[in-house]
Amino acid sequence: MTEAQTAESSAHRSRVVLVTGANRGIGRAIAERFVAAGDKVATIYRSGDLPAGVFGVIGDMTDTESVDRGFAAIEDELGHIEVLVANAGITRDQLLMRMSDEDFTSVLDVNLTGAFRCVRRASKNMIKGRYGRIVLISSVVGLYGGAGQVNYSASKAALVGMARSVTREIGSRGITANVIAPGFINTDMTAALPEAKQQQYKSAIPAGRFAEPSEVAAAVEFIASDAAGYISGAVIPVDGGLGMGH
Ligand code: NDP
Repeated sequence: MTEAQTAESSAHRSRVVLVTGANRGIGRAIAERFVAAGDKVATIYRSGDLPAGVFGVIGDMTDTESVDRGFAAIEDELGHIEVLVANAGITRDQLLMRMSDEDFTSVLDVNLTGAFRCVRRASKNMIKGRYGRIVLISSVVGLYGGAGQVNYSASKAALVGMARSVTREIGSRGITANVIAPGFINTDMTAALPEAKQQQYKSAIPAGRFAEPSEVAAAVEFIASDAAGYISGAVIPVDGGLGMGH
């Protein structure tokens, strides 16, 4: 570390950060990154184990009371949440003609309504404190589309409207709301894709590879930083160039 970097990191103000679904995948990498930066990190999660230094409360994004209980427990332990990363998400891929109402609504309930439940609850204290960073984890598929992903794509596209409406509504209170749109990242979600499909996607990505969760975490850390205070309502791709121009 250079002297300048040391000075910068020692000047870091420790904030209370909530990352939903930090037990695995992208959420885990994001939580680890905030812990390494010296923040107080919490998660509302359903199962599994957590990275060292993360305060966890069991909860389910599809249940408003459970989300609200999770927030209350985190606030009791660490204080008001200043940074929210709505990361928990699911896929339930199916061709349009075969997609049931349940396939559609269950994905919306976690990915979109779950994010809404968290944003609504977090905004209360962010408004009071006149400071907040809201980061919604969308997907390249939200704007690019994906065959067999009408439910997932719709849920992820809607997060853009959410971030922009939040920005217009409470952007004057020191609060930003942004969307991170990862492309294909090496997690359980992409491991579930057949090998042939993975190769097909890789050949369409200018970077020629899938990314690691830590590469998404780096973008999240920046957009949640004090330095990014004038960026709001933005969609930041972390996709190796896959979605350029959409
Ligand atoms: P994983 O499938 O590895 O992890 C999903 C996380 O969400 C898990 O922690 C899971 O908990 C949690 N979760 C799911 N449903 C709920 C629920 N009802 N309540 C609470 N937590 C829940 O996914 P990734 O890490 O790959 O994805 C993280 C986010 O990034 C998602 O929003 C995804 O859509 C998005 N994304 C991922 C991409 C990729 O290529 N991997 C690309 C673009 C976007 P549990 O372990 O208990 O199931």
